[in-house]
Amino acid sequence: MSGRAQKTDDDWRSELTPEQYEVCRCGGTEPAFSGKYWDTKTPGTYHCAACDTPLFSSETKYDSGSGWPSFWAAITGDAVKEQIDNTFGMVRTEILCAGCDSHLGHVFPDGPKPTGMRYCTNSASLSLKEKS
Ligand code: FE
Repeated sequence: MSGRAQKTDDDWRSELTPEQYEVCRCGGTEPAFSGKYWDTKTPGTYHCAACDTPLFSSETKYDSGSGWPSFWAAITGDAVKEQIDNTFGMVRTEILCAGCDSHLGHVFPDGPKPTGMRYCTNSASLSLKEKS
């Protein structure tokens, strides 16, 4: 994994698909029920699509009904970082890959037990490594 300091915007543009670039580097949101992972139940680990850092385990994935891949926890305490997002007239908590600052989605306090949190992500931000 190369550090984010070495990556320029042009690097990201050339390495990511246009959809990944829009979501990961521009904070975009894929339409609900459109991404490749919203209904996926395959065991494995979801990595950052941009830098390959492990972010979420399939063991914490659940069907939130939102149409986006939803998890009740990140894979480790420091894999995903949070920051306040005041756009669109809402106060939300944005979630980003701690490895490369790519936008993942938002986290909401309406998830299931045991955490009560809903990490609402974009499929375009993720790459599933299936458990072999
Ligand atoms: Fe990343």
